[in-house]
Amino acid sequence: MSDASPLYSSQIKCPLCETQVEYTKVRTKSVKITRQDTDFCPWYEGENPLLYEVVVCPECGYGAHVTTFETLNKYKKEKIREKITKRWKKRSFHGQRTLEQALEVFKIALLNLYEMDAPSSEIAKICMRIGWIYRYKANEDMEKKFLEHALKYYQLAYQNEDLSRGKLDEYTCMFIIGDLYKRLGQHVESSQWFSRLIMCYSDPAQKDKIPQRLIETARELFHETKELAAAEKSKGA
Ligand SMILES: [Zn+2]
Repeated sequence: MSDASPLYSSQIKCPLCETQVEYTKVRTKSVKITRQDTDFCPWYEGENPLLYEVVVCPECGYGAHVTTFETLNKYKKEKIREKITKRWKKRSFHGQRTLEQALEVFKIALLNLYEMDAPSSEIAKICMRIGWIYRYKANEDMEKKFLEHALKYYQLAYQNEDLSRGKLDEYTCMFIIGDLYKRLGQHVESSQWFSRLIMCYSDPAQKDKIPQRLIETARELFHETKELAAAEKSKGA
């Protein structure tokens, strides 16, 4: 890849088999974000860096989001050796990625997460991205299927995980759950989650932890979903 290419290669050591894995990244200066959907799905002009967020080791089949690739404990290593590596056909995912190829690597990462009993928030994050890739492809049925999975795992994360330290805070998690319910046409549940978030904001102890933009969008979406839920109710009556 030449200097003019928006893509370049980097290396990361596989924590499972110790192979130096060559993987592809998009140059920061080439990244042009044009807009973002309410569920944070980013749209880009030119190369889409989201498609390169997952790294898969060509030798052993271990795959993960690049930010968590190097963290693998003994338990997870054993699970992946047993469930993934034994059945793995060696192949590389280095170089430019089409939407189809991105779907393949994200699904490998998802399988890895399931097999190693990963936290729900990590599973949700990958399901959400697979849903977005289907959105890029305008495949609504498959997008919906993966957003449903994402919703299930974000709710489990909200119930069971300590979200005070990780990248996903509990308020963003509540917002995403509300937004996913809205996208899936479940407006009553959606309005309940947005309302819960708005209630948190009215508590002085929590107010400062909630970003202004998040609460503004939550208020807009809350009104939309409330109206949609009321319209459905009157239609059904
Ligand atoms: Zn490996």
